[in-house]
Amino acid sequence: MKIGFIGLGNMGAPMAANLMKAGHAVTGFDLVADMPDGVAKAESAAAAAEGQEVVITMLPNGAILRAVADEVLPGMAAGSVLLDCSTVDVDSARAVAEQAEAKGVLALDAPVSGGIGGAAAGTLTFMVGGKDAAFAIAAPLFDIMGQKAVHCGASGAGQAAKICNNMILGATMAVTCEAFALADKLGLDRGKMFDVVSTSSGYSWSMNAYCPAPGVGPQSPADNDYKPGFAAELMLKDLRLSQQAAEAVDADTPMGQRATELYDAFVTHENGQGLDFSALLPRFAAKGRD
Ligand code: NAD
Repeated sequence: MKIGFIGLGNMGAPMAANLMKAGHAVTGFDLVADMPDGVAKAESAAAAAEGQEVVITMLPNGAILRAVADEVLPGMAAGSVLLDCSTVDVDSARAVAEQAEAKGVLALDAPVSGGIGGAAAGTLTFMVGGKDAAFAIAAPLFDIMGQKAVHCGASGAGQAAKICNNMILGATMAVTCEAFALADKLGLDRGKMFDVVSTSSGYSWSMNAYCPAPGVGPQSPADNDYKPGFAAELMLKDLRLSQQAAEAVDADTPMGQRATELYDAFVTHENGQGLDFSALLPRFAAKGRD
């Protein structure tokens, strides 16, 4: 397939590289990031998208997605697919899908889970909103970039699933970090803590696959000075999306709300900006009770 790829950051670059390695012709555009080997560099988002069968976006937020959609849709042919894999608000996903469909372009919201490790290994999970016809065209690409793609429903359903997943992730990472800091103060070795919890009922993706303690468990951003990975500000973005969504539909989400407050304080007032979201561990370790 001829694929345009816009937004080749921590996630987009390895996803594009996997598509290229699988034999697809990938043309990329990013405001800052370099192209992975083998991905042709376009001079603009519009140039990367023009005449492509599928245009994939992997961008920071809904406002940027809307701006990029304005830029790329005029050059996309009817029947081609705009496949957004970013995490954005449900309204932006639906607005972009409507705008695309008005000119005969098929649109999918297909945010991912699995982090940079999953992006590099081609083992992401895609949660997808949009029409069956669009899902059928994108399915072979999901197979290359991921291990699973769930068609969740109409436009916006993928983002709804992602927002709920990441509310669980934010709260789980926060409690995993505070548990390590508590274990430190109780004199419990971090390696023993990992051995127990990773095989006990406290296990989770945050503990088992992305352990926030350096030198413990699998390689993770904790082993790289908490360089992202998944940046704390992106976690905060997703948690805020969860709270906006909860507000809109009158859902009670106290754990999500507390996690949002923690990441807000960390990013806004505690130098967490630019660090991985697992860097809450040194933050808790350095603090006493409020
Ligand atoms: P990132 O900041 O590393 O990458 C985003 C890229 O978009 C950057 O390289 C940036 O230069 C580029 N960009 C911004 N505006 C642009 C524009 N107008 N035109 C072209 N390029 C533009 O972020 P990331 O970690 O790759 O995350 C991307 C998306 O994936 C986010 O929505 C995030 O929430 C989601 N996500 C990230 C992870 C993770 O672990 N990093 C996991 C799941 C989902």
